[in-house]
Amino acid sequence: MFSPLALRLPIMPDEPPVYFLSRLAARNFMKARPFAMDMGFTFNGVERGDQTAIDTLAAVSGVSVADLNACGSRTVGDRIMLKGQLLDLNSVRRARVQACPECLRHDVASSDLPSSVAMYGRVQWMLNSVETCEKHGIALVTIADKLPECECQDWSPAAASGLDDISALVKTAVARRPSRLEGYLLDRLNEKPAESWLDGLPFYAAEQTARLFGTMALFRDSTTPFSLYDSNKYSAGEIGFDIVNGGPSDILSFLTDLKRDQLQSRHAAGKKTAGPAPIYGRLYSRLTLMDDPAYNPVRDILTEHIMSHFPMGPGDDIFGTPVTSRRFHSILTLQKKYDKGDRTVIKILTDEGLLKEHAGNLRDMLFDAPTTERLMDHMVKSVSLAEAQKRINVTANVMNTLRKDKIISRQCTESDATRDRYSIVELDDFVRRLFVDAQPVDSDSANAVCLMDASARNRCTISVIVKFILDRKLPWVGSRNDVRGVASIRVNPGDVSQLLARQVPIGVHAFEAGTYLKIAPPVIRRIADRGLIKGTCYVDPLSGRKKMVLSTDDIERFNAEYVTLFNLARAMRRQLSQLRAELTAQGILPAKETIGVGATFYRRSDVPFGN
Ligand SMILES: [Zn+2]
Repeated sequence: MFSPLALRLPIMPDEPPVYFLSRLAARNFMKARPFAMDMGFTFNGVERGDQTAIDTLAAVSGVSVADLNACGSRTVGDRIMLKGQLLDLNSVRRARVQACPECLRHDVASSDLPSSVAMYGRVQWMLNSVETCEKHGIALVTIADKLPECECQDWSPAAASGLDDISALVKTAVARRPSRLEGYLLDRLNEKPAESWLDGLPFYAAEQTARLFGTMALFRDSTTPFSLYDSNKYSAGEIGFDIVNGGPSDILSFLTDLKRDQLQSRHAAGKKTAGPAPIYGRLYSRLTLMDDPAYNPVRDILTEHIMSHFPMGPGDDIFGTPVTSRRFHSILTLQKKYDKGDRTVIKILTDEGLLKEHAGNLRDMLFDAPTTERLMDHMVKSVSLAEAQKRINVTANVMNTLRKDKIISRQCTESDATRDRYSIVELDDFVRRLFVDAQPVDSDSANAVCLMDASARNRCTISVIVKFILDRKLPWVGSRNDVRGVASIRVNPGDVSQLLARQVPIGVHAFEAGTYLKIAPPVIRRIADRGLIKGTCYVDPLSGRKKMVLSTDDIERFNAEYVTLFNLARAMRRQLSQLRAELTAQGILPAKETIGVGATFYRRSDVPFGN
């Protein structure tokens, strides 16, 4: 077996076994790799956490296996396990050595050993994301860089070569507290409790996610997280941690700001509208390349943002995963889906009030997918007049009547506004509503006739009967089994005439009242408008026009109360102008409430000879 070494060292707090091995070798005037070989194990074995190598190092050094393992790392597949945290190759410094000069000065001052072996490396300094000494509040300094593979992690020679003058390095050290990312990672490594959204990610994914967001926030696409050094890397960690620490809501809010800024700068540069990849830049491309499931929670948040801020739908993919549903359309996606020109789409959206005043690029506007698809289906799926007649099965005359009475409306969706187009959705809905109560009948009878016959017998328009059906006022509606569409509808003409009779209120029209009272009908209407004669308005089922009937009782009451100057003069066989002058001379004036109706009325009670 091995004989214990004459020159030995204690392992120090936070000292990883690989750095300890390096110091032990230096103490025996050797480099670490040949020293390990001489002792019957390999440097790489210790670096990988191979238990045989660690056991041998323990035996050689006299340090317990437990002390060696306290800060030992172990390779697990292509990851590294360190103090219960999962790291990856990017997490660990190998060809670069960084250290705190104040810590090293203290090592030398407090040890009897030669300074080259008194200085020891701390496990924190192995971490790529940590560049600040928590204990002394100063930035770490680089004491060796770009080491060849055969010298990587061999701490003592690297430290000795770079540390001729520790005092000078201490003087020029930059004072700063650890960045918030560094603080979080150090706490996590030291098993201090922390509450961060990053806790849900493995250590390596947490540090890289924070650095990725921080780099994007500060430098956009101009650099990568791995090319940042010193103060830039520090700032990226600080800002990146703030963005991701709170989790989805903070990250989504950052992404919204990022999208707005990116769009503004693209517009300013005259660039066209863009999809997620150019807008999120390296954030998107890195997360696409890193197909490690550890980043799924980050990708999920970005996917959510993309779905709610871009017109993504079937045919697109996000991070290589096909999109199966759609939340938003753009003018372009609507054009593609409905095979229409942009002018048509813009006109429809504008007409329906979905496209009002807008800031920025029209092409970047988003429209709620279910709403716009319903609208576009309705507007775009249309047929010509002849096709519409055929679809609902009516003659040209009936179609014309239904159109004129606005039961079926015409729409123009093409830029050529002269073309008659009819919405399939609306036509089908019209027929469906007609058939709601329809009972199947095999043949016609006196009580089951087609709309044309019913309208002829009642001397009313087809529209009137159709409205009765749509308003579900008829007690019975039938449909012929052997006929299609509107032509199959059957009604009882008696039901129609009963409804028509009920449509007209009892009374007389202004014309008849005028003849009776010897007053011009327009004057009668104005009198009725002022409520001086009670009237009721209704829609004439024949003409579809609004009409008014007057109560005959109220006409009598009015006649007993008022008399026109004209009728009074006629009854008294007097000249109109003389009578007016005479009444005025007696202080008798026309009834105030009738002034302006187009004739002169007096209250009979005011006129001594009025009766
Ligand atoms: Zn320090």
